[in-house]
Amino acid sequence: TTYDIAALKARLSGIRTEDNPALVKQKSRDFFWYSPVLKRQLDQVSADIVVSPTSEEQVLQTLAAAHGLGIPVTPRGTGTGNYGQAMPLSGGVLLDLAGFNKVKRIEHGRYVAEPGAIMARIDDETRAHSRQELRLHPSTYQTASIGGFIAGGSGGVGSIKWGGLRDWGNIIRLKVATMEASPRILELAGDDLHKVAHAYGTNGIITEVEMPLGPAYDWVDVILGFDTLRAATEFANQLGEQDGLALKNLAVIAAPIGQDYFLRHKKFLPQGKHLVVVMAADFAVEALLAYARRFRGAELLLRSDRLSAEEAKGLPPAYELGWNHTTLRALRVDPAITYLQVLYPFPNQVELVERIHARFGDEVLCHLEFVRFDGKITCFGLPLVRFTTEERLDEIIAVHEEMGAPIFNPHRYTLEEGGMKQTDDAQLAFKREADPQGLLNPGKMIAWEDPDYDYRSGKTFLFRSLSEAG
Ligand code: FAD
Repeated sequence: TTYDIAALKARLSGIRTEDNPALVKQKSRDFFWYSPVLKRQLDQVSADIVVSPTSEEQVLQTLAAAHGLGIPVTPRGTGTGNYGQAMPLSGGVLLDLAGFNKVKRIEHGRYVAEPGAIMARIDDETRAHSRQELRLHPSTYQTASIGGFIAGGSGGVGSIKWGGLRDWGNIIRLKVATMEASPRILELAGDDLHKVAHAYGTNGIITEVEMPLGPAYDWVDVILGFDTLRAATEFANQLGEQDGLALKNLAVIAAPIGQDYFLRHKKFLPQGKHLVVVMAADFAVEALLAYARRFRGAELLLRSDRLSAEEAKGLPPAYELGWNHTTLRALRVDPAITYLQVLYPFPNQVELVERIHARFGDEVLCHLEFVRFDGKITCFGLPLVRFTTEERLDEIIAVHEEMGAPIFNPHRYTLEEGGMKQTDDAQLAFKREADPQGLLNPGKMIAWEDPDYDYRSGKTFLFRSLSEAG
């Protein structure tokens, strides 16, 4: 389809736009190339124009203009998503929200911000204001926007204490603009938040967020080494259950991931050691180490508060060793690496991790991130996979699921196939209300494009179902 971009531009006076094809293509991409499958499928995707509003009025003006001309709109924060979420499959407008980014208000326990605010910059402001910080952030904290996190992410650093974006209370309130002739602003709270969390911007543009804050401590990175993956996993699981220890992140990295791919940390990591990488509050480190000494075979390899300036130079923070930064570091050394996202359900997670990794050997390297979901410590896996073929990747996924570990497939760009978010009747009804013409991020919600698609599967989804709401 070709859209009347000239007419659109005429209706967007006062708003920054860019239609140089090379620049538009650059902004039409995210970290989809992490997946060899998505790389093959999405490499050619490009919008026709980038529109960069800096206020809610400008967002509304853009949506009204695009709606009037039947032009699709795909929102983008800073484009760090891994599943092609922010890629405009039908072209049209790439709505760049990076410049709509002010922190508007900070209070005790919460803040209000515009969607394009970078998470690390929000933390700078809340720390300076009252020694508070975000409860949760992805490992892309230094570059990713809060709106993009809510619409496209799931959890990360902080999830060991607070759970994920799916969990009650981790989002307080959102303002969302609808895609209509006269776009409205909806205020969502409570159950309604589940409509837009991790919905890829398919049912509204987030124009304001109100999010909870936690206490900002001085976080220390601690790395412990273990001789077996089983011991590392068991230790991490038990450490996560120590409620009195103020932890911010807790990961298991199997050998030889650290030794081969954490280039700056390499000198601290003896061959063969499986790593437990922890972020703990400065005042919790002594207790953490005392706890570790009770656990046979735990060896302290690094604590960041005891490094000389020389040793600390150039070392990335522990959160940039975890989550998808583990994958990033591996990919930089070995482009044939890819990854999966695995849930090891409570309460058999430790057993299951061991059984699954024994089954695959070196083809699938273990990387676990411990999280507290519904009050229970369990782990989420982002294992590294030595990629051979798409068929083999599908086989590896199928084996995980047969063995009892649901996969949230990062090699799919639709909500349904990605598997974190369920499209049910309530989700579709909200889409009909907020985007009746189906112009928001088209192609990402199968149930919308294909009325015959059967979305009533027995699958496990990470985010809460809307149909269960009263
Ligand atoms: P984008 O990629 O720009 O957008 C994400 C989705 O949100 C898209 O569908 C987009 O259309 C939509 N969107 C953006 N802004 C809005 C808005 N205002 N209204 C409605 N929809 C909108 N994710 C995690 O959850 N946890 C992690 O730990 C994590 N680690 C990562 C590590 C690496 C190295 C990489 C490359 C990615 C990682 N991610 C992680 C994925 C991603 O970085 C985060 O989810 C990030 O928060 C996305 O923010 P963004 O601004 O880049 O969003």
